[in-house]
Amino acid sequence: MAEKDPNCIFCKIVSGELGAEKVYEDDEVLAFLDIHPSSRGHTLLIPKQHYDGLLSTPPEMLQTLVAALPKVASAVVTGTGAEGFNVLQSNGPCSGQMVFHIHFHIVPRNSGDGIGLGFRSALGGPIEDDLSKTAEAVRAAF
Ligand code: 5GP
Ligand code: ZN
Repeated sequence: MAEKDPNCIFCKIVSGELGAEKVYEDDEVLAFLDIHPSSRGHTLLIPKQHYDGLLSTPPEMLQTLVAALPKVASAVVTGTGAEGFNVLQSNGPCSGQMVFHIHFHIVPRNSGDGIGLGFRSALGGPIEDDLSKTAEAVRAAF
């Protein structure tokens, strides 16, 4: 796992090669505004080291990120006056991941803002699932 990927946009933001509206940083993590925000204050929280997704990020780094998450989210919510927020973390192109440097989206939310969560619509959709068979397959994969 490279500490820095020369082709990675977020590594370039960490190094200062690319600009960003930074809102928080410490020795290990950085938070900055998403350049294409879903709502005002949409923020990305990343480790300063490069890992491409959740499964390749060491547990210690995940602990550091998750510990920073409520601190950053609290400031985002207070600073924007939002009523709440979503946290989203995507893995793989099929999930919508576009930047392969692990990140958590913090998306400020307000009642009636009309922002949808795409995957939630599957709950009312055509997916047929045998829950017990699916659960068995997942249990067997541990
Ligand atoms: P993903 O789809 O990978 O979970 O989300 C990547 C996010 O990074 C997108 O929401 C996109 O708008 C944001 N993004 C992509 N390039 C840049 C950039 O150069 N600067 C900033 N601030 N955000 C970026
Ligand atoms: Zn990177």
